[in-house]
Amino acid sequence: MKRDTIDLIGHQYGRLTVLKEVERNKYARRFLCRCECGKETVAYMSNLRTGHKKSCGCLRDERVSQANQRDLTGRRFGSLKVIKRSEKKSKSGKANWTCHCDCGNTADVLSDRLLNGTTSSCGCRRAARGRELAADTNTRYRVDGVMTTKLKQKMRSDNRTGVKGVVANVNKKGKVKYVASITVKGQYYYLGRFNSLEDAVAARKKGEELYHDPYLNGSDDKIK
Ligand SMILES: [Zn+2]
Ligand SMILES: [Zn+2]
Repeated sequence: MKRDTIDLIGHQYGRLTVLKEVERNKYARRFLCRCECGKETVAYMSNLRTGHKKSCGCLRDERVSQANQRDLTGRRFGSLKVIKRSEKKSKSGKANWTCHCDCGNTADVLSDRLLNGTTSSCGCRRAARGRELAADTNTRYRVDGVMTTKLKQKMRSDNRTGVKGVVANVNKKGKVKYVASITVKGQYYYLGRFNSLEDAVAARKKGEELYHDPYLNGSDDKIK
């Protein structure tokens, strides 16, 4: 179904019931909705249909207050031990907890950062790990100014061809084109645009021989 013929009026998305369309342009459509809590809110069609918007905001408020009610006193998260609820709340109203770190520092940490494992020290662990990593990376992976680990890195997430350095694009006519490229020393090299995946892969292979091999050969013993 074409996007601009979809009728959302009367539909229910989470707590929202769609009342009427209030805006429509080339890029988006917006609808006035009534929430179960009684408030009205305007939502983008895309947010409704993907489930990104399910209430006027009351749903999130409830979740936050539920998380805030949880008592974390005495619990341990990594190097942190929770001492008490902090007086300070975050801007969004989330609870903060005063924690003792094993290193001796005290830190205020948000509930969800403790619970989902994002924060497990006052910051001392991350600092130490960062220093180790930096030292390690510099001595082991830097060959002639090129980060060899980067050359062997996994494919980028927007790559849909399954081949590193080859991205599939669909043009206006719906035709698929394959663009081959390579990045060395932070420099992007365009290798060409092809109708077939095979040609693009071949171009990328040539590019690798041309740009990468001088850096990779002889350095393998230094790469994990
Ligand atoms: Zn609501
Ligand atoms: Zn610490």
